[in-house]
Amino acid sequence: MDYKKYTREQLLGRIDELEKLNQELLREKEQETRLEYAWTGNLGHWYWNIKTNSVTFDPLKVTTLGYKMDELPDVVTYQFFTDKLHPDDYQKTMDAMLDHLHGKKGVYEAEYRIMAKDGSYRWYLDRGRITQYDAEGKPSFLAGIVFEITEKKEMEIELAEKNKILAELSSVDGLTKIANHRTLMERLKYEMENAGKTGRPLSVALFDIDNFKNINDSRGHIFGDKVLKGLAVIIKENIRETDFAGRYGGEEFFVIFPETDGAKAVNISERIRQAVESYDFTYESPVTVSGGVRQYGGEELADLVHLADENMYKAKKMGKNRIIS
Ligand code: GH3
Ligand code: MG
Ligand code: MG
Repeated sequence: MDYKKYTREQLLGRIDELEKLNQELLREKEQETRLEYAWTGNLGHWYWNIKTNSVTFDPLKVTTLGYKMDELPDVVTYQFFTDKLHPDDYQKTMDAMLDHLHGKKGVYEAEYRIMAKDGSYRWYLDRGRITQYDAEGKPSFLAGIVFEITEKKEMEIELAEKNKILAELSSVDGLTKIANHRTLMERLKYEMENAGKTGRPLSVALFDIDNFKNINDSRGHIFGDKVLKGLAVIIKENIRETDFAGRYGGEEFFVIFPETDGAKAVNISERIRQAVESYDFTYESPVTVSGGVRQYGGEELADLVHLADENMYKAKKMGKNRIIS
């Protein structure tokens, strides 16, 4: 259409006519969407004219944000939406758009949160692409669709949190909150393989509380549980970042010392033994532990644990409250 010969009045009339047509098309598009797709009500269409920076859209995107169409400015700009982006989603959304505009990606796609009128955030999945270029080949027009995915996202986040709790429950001892038997043995298997490969030393220690039955009998199980929790803390505090401690079972604790020979493991175990003995558990007499240390010598996992256990029993036989290797 050659508009050069048009008068101002005629041009205004033409704009008015095109706007009406545009609204009509969007309404039709919206109806079509609702009829055609099962997920009606959570899909919107948008069109972004880059030259004029105006975004045209069917109502979904703004109504789910709590706005009414007539509350919006005459020209809704790209920034109307991007200003409301969640700070954590801002950069990746901008990058996704720029990557597409610069031709690095065939489509623009982003998941982001936008602040609704009431201040809460809602999740969207947004997809679009350039549909028109100007005479110089620069992008001038983009069209896209946007899904509201708040419920799906919230479910995903809830599920991820539940999975995290489940993973913790299955790997951590419920009472002492340190690694459980299963996690300990998995870690030991890994460290044994590692030591096998690197040729570096590896040692383990098994600790068992002395006369724990008496402690339970005289002060009750709740007090016994407190001693177990306290012991877990003492062990953790006396080992290095690279060591790994867990509850082997009952009143027995196990520590893995990677890159450590037997003599060094005895030193650390002795430090633990002394720390336990000098800790005030508010029991009639000092709470003590006996420990068996063993350096890995290429045997099977069960044998290594058994050898540490044998040393621990030797410590018991020799009068308890001592470390044997
Ligand atoms: P020793 O010095 O020879 O190791 O004797 P002990 O009394 O410590 O050993 P024994 O195996 O006879 O008793 C261990 C006790 O530990 C028995 C059991 O009821 C108690 N026990 C095991 N798990 C728990 C627990 O989770 N909480 C409490 N309170 N007690 C536990
Ligand atoms: Mg025991
Ligand atoms: Mg015991």
